[in-house]
Amino acid sequence: MFDKILIANRGEIALRVIRAAREMGIATVAVHSTADSDAMHVRMADESVCIGPAPSPQSYLSVPAIISACEITGAQAIHPGYGFLSENADFVQIVEDHGITFIGPTAEHIRIMGDKITAKDTMKELGVPCVPGSDGGVPDLAAARKIGDEIGYPVIIKATAGGGGRGMKVAQNAGEMESAFMTARAEGKAAFGNDEVYIEKYLTTPRHIEIQVFGDGKGGAVHLGERDCSLQRRHQKVFEEAPGPCISPEERAQIGKVCADAVAKINYIGAGTIEFLYENGEFYFIEMNTRLQVEHPVTEGIFGVDLVREQILVAASEPMSFGQDDLRINGHAIEVRINAERLPNFAPCPGKISAYHAPGGLGVRMDSALYNGYSIPPYYDSLIGKLIVQGRDRSEALARLNRALGELIVDGIDTTVPLFHALLQEPDIHSGDYNIHWLERWLAENMAE
Ligand code: ADP
Repeated sequence: MFDKILIANRGEIALRVIRAAREMGIATVAVHSTADSDAMHVRMADESVCIGPAPSPQSYLSVPAIISACEITGAQAIHPGYGFLSENADFVQIVEDHGITFIGPTAEHIRIMGDKITAKDTMKELGVPCVPGSDGGVPDLAAARKIGDEIGYPVIIKATAGGGGRGMKVAQNAGEMESAFMTARAEGKAAFGNDEVYIEKYLTTPRHIEIQVFGDGKGGAVHLGERDCSLQRRHQKVFEEAPGPCISPEERAQIGKVCADAVAKINYIGAGTIEFLYENGEFYFIEMNTRLQVEHPVTEGIFGVDLVREQILVAASEPMSFGQDDLRINGHAIEVRINAERLPNFAPCPGKISAYHAPGGLGVRMDSALYNGYSIPPYYDSLIGKLIVQGRDRSEALARLNRALGELIVDGIDTTVPLFHALLQEPDIHSGDYNIHWLERWLAENMAE
């Protein structure tokens, strides 16, 4: 086992990794930008190294700075968290070339899944059901029109290198194809340096259901059921739950096995998430994330396992601490993402926290790097905390969420907390009757900008 690991991240996820490492008796190294000298992850780690100025390309994304920090401190492995370098195959290669262990999948698997066309081809071959669409990349508008006519409108044009909800455009009919095709290409080029796009049937009322998988890198793999992340704003998740309110035990076992078998076949190592759209009882693969997800705590809650601990175990070539038969669902968990944003338009709202109080009590987990007097710097993601609640069933979890949100105090800035108070008044949220478009519609009706 490692003696010391470095966490190439900040905020709540850096704390999350430090906590798992500490329970395993592993020392931790935090890295930080000059804007984060006072950050909680720096205070909580055993050691810290300043790796550059505030802008992330010069600090949290600086590969030479992170490798140097490892060498100076003698850290044997790097946990990337999510975002930043977590899905950067070149980074993984450089880390391994320096004799440091990357706590995550291989560069090859990250590369395959990072390109949505190769990912879809690979999954199709592994027997995972996919959304009907183009066979790989679509070279030009004429080809795009032909595919649109074949699969039928509406269709979605997606940048193969896209992510974070960017590089996707819907064409409702043939008339919209030209502008959607051109925009998706331009966005792909501008944001990801790659203008290749592909086309999929646009599903009109799907839910977003994702399967958590975990591989040992030696052909063994398990699944940890699904998370329903259908409540999204601009393709970004805001509220996640497990198990999915509409997924039966039979469906879970069936799609879970398909996913676990698929990653076992490629000797996948560590945590991964296979994302699907789910409509009329069918699952359609959209992408795989080769890292820990923001919403992993809801899965940890219902299965009672520590996914970061498992990531560290398998990275150190140790066996996983559970097999498929050890995994049993216990109750229902919900996570809400608390962002430093001002409603109704969700404008980023960094600033000084004049008072902070985290909720507690039975079934409540608050993953956050906030503290009283902390100043949220304006340079990074606006996620400042995740409130995760668990109950014996969904209605108990919702009541607990309401109670915990009432206890939470974050003064000095605006947050997305009022959104969740408002959502908890909605009958559809209580019945679980929503799809990926529900929140956009609700926001348009209830929070007009
Ligand atoms: P990203 O990598 O940017 O997150 P995804 O491929 O995971 O992109 O898609 C993000 C979201 O976009 C999905 O959760 C869903 O809301 C919507 N979406 C993607 N593909 C389709 C599709 N074929 N039909 C309808 N909605 C889609």
